[in-house]
Amino acid sequence: MRSKLPGAPTSIFAVMSGLAREHNAINLSQGFPDFDLSPELIELMDKNMREGNNQYAPMQGVQPLREEISVKINRDYGRCYNPDTEINITAGATQALFTAFNAFVFAGDEVIVIEPAYDSYIPSIILNGGKPVPIPLTADFRYDWDQIRSAVNPRTRMIVINSPHNPLGTTFHEEDITALTEITRNTDILIISDEVYEHIIFDGKKHLSMAKYPELAERSLVISSFGKTFHATGWKVGYIVGPSKYIAEFRKIHQFTVFAVNTPAQMSYSEFLKNPEHYLHLNEFYQNKRDFLNSFFTDTKLKFTPAEGTYFQIFDYSAYSDEDDFTFAKRLTAEAGTAVIPLSPFYTVDYSGRKIRVCFAKRDKILQEGAERVLEYLST
Ligand code: PMP
Ligand code: GLN
Repeated sequence: MRSKLPGAPTSIFAVMSGLAREHNAINLSQGFPDFDLSPELIELMDKNMREGNNQYAPMQGVQPLREEISVKINRDYGRCYNPDTEINITAGATQALFTAFNAFVFAGDEVIVIEPAYDSYIPSIILNGGKPVPIPLTADFRYDWDQIRSAVNPRTRMIVINSPHNPLGTTFHEEDITALTEITRNTDILIISDEVYEHIIFDGKKHLSMAKYPELAERSLVISSFGKTFHATGWKVGYIVGPSKYIAEFRKIHQFTVFAVNTPAQMSYSEFLKNPEHYLHLNEFYQNKRDFLNSFFTDTKLKFTPAEGTYFQIFDYSAYSDEDDFTFAKRLTAEAGTAVIPLSPFYTVDYSGRKIRVCFAKRDKILQEGAERVLEYLST
């Protein structure tokens, strides 16, 4: 049979979570919390369903939620997006990304993607006729702006960026903003900025949203997801914001992709978002989890640089094994009883690094047990 994505593997998250189930392992692979969301949010959902908010929402998202998102972004990053023309609610960030590629990539357009990259970007670009142009990060996982600059040409339609970064847990620094601004100035390049971990950033660092920088905001579509911010990955509600000319085009496709997004969830988020306290402590909450996980490995040969953001920590296992990362991840899952994610699926090029990604959005006792199993296994 003909395939639009020949050779596309099953997503590594599904593969590793499947292996974790098969081996009854502690699942520190796929990125989702193993603790519950706020009871207040559950009550709001219950209330909204009982009040009859159960039919199609407006195509662009319910008005109160678009208004609250506008207030939130203005409060956090100082830019005022018009709720009617510059904000659209989506079925999670994945749909926002796919629809954005669908709306703006034309056959043969080049899209610069920095690798390692979240796994949905490249297939979504290819499915929409684009040509991904992968640019690797440097060995210490920083942006190689000279290389990115030399990849830009008249066919470059977009640059996709992601800060805080999945899988690496790194973040954009001011010098990255300066370089990106210079590189895109006087071009038609659109920036797709995946900011789903905007509220999970550590050690007093500030999230550098494209919304903060007027010149960049004019050419950016900023995407986020309540799944990460409110521990509700299964609700699949996110949003995209950007200049009205782009959002108008986005909506032409969105209306024929999902038309509208879960109504009671949107209504619940619109009430919940009124209180910024509901997300402002997320940094501290996850920083404690990062530090708790890392405390088990401080004096071991499993090397790490503490994540700057996200709920993922990278570990270098080269002192323990020379196996490729997928083999090592599978062995840890089957034999140590702790599932982790290899980095190679986040690359299109052959990846020879010896690193794995561990998700710390888990209860402390699960993190402890997962870490102890790894330590015990590696020490024998
Ligand atoms: N982008 C990144 C970087 C992610 O890590 C994820 C999910 N883990 C998504 C997008 C997708 O978000 P959603 O679940 O809202 O579709
Ligand atoms: N983004 C999550 C991760 O990085 C997983 C999302 C998914 O399973 N598609 O683990």
